Amino acid sequence: MSDKEEIKYNLFVIKTKEDEIKKLLERNKEITKSMIDKCKHELVLESEAHIIPYKEDEFPACTLSPIRVCVECGLAEEGWGCGYYDLDDDRKIIKCSDREDCKSIIILFRSQMELDKIRQNTPTA
Ligand SMILES: [Zn+2]
Repeated sequence: MSDKEEIKYNLFVIKTKEDEIKKLLERNKEITKSMIDKCKHELVLESEAHIIPYKEDEFPACTLSPIRVCVECGLAEEGWGCGYYDLDDDRKIIKCSDREDCKSIIILFRSQMELDKIRQNTPTA
């Protein structure tokens, strides 16, 4: 096989793998949506807010909101008080001081911005 042929072959293999990866990612999206739709989110971990201290010439001090994660399906939402959507107060909530413990079980993360979009697209009764 010449160098040119090998390059063409390798590009073909890369393209094939990329298509496989796309299919796997699409399938994971379907599974995740199905899993989250079926789950009642009965048991949720809630982290404390996370304070990032001020560092000169880097970034201002800021506070990241708490996150809630469903133990069963891995749905996570960030928010404050009534700012949650599917993971509101109507379930068993276990406080978890370490944000990393909560993060380790996340399958799908919804930021506050995404939750706002969901609320805007949800018809009110
Ligand atoms: Zn759940």
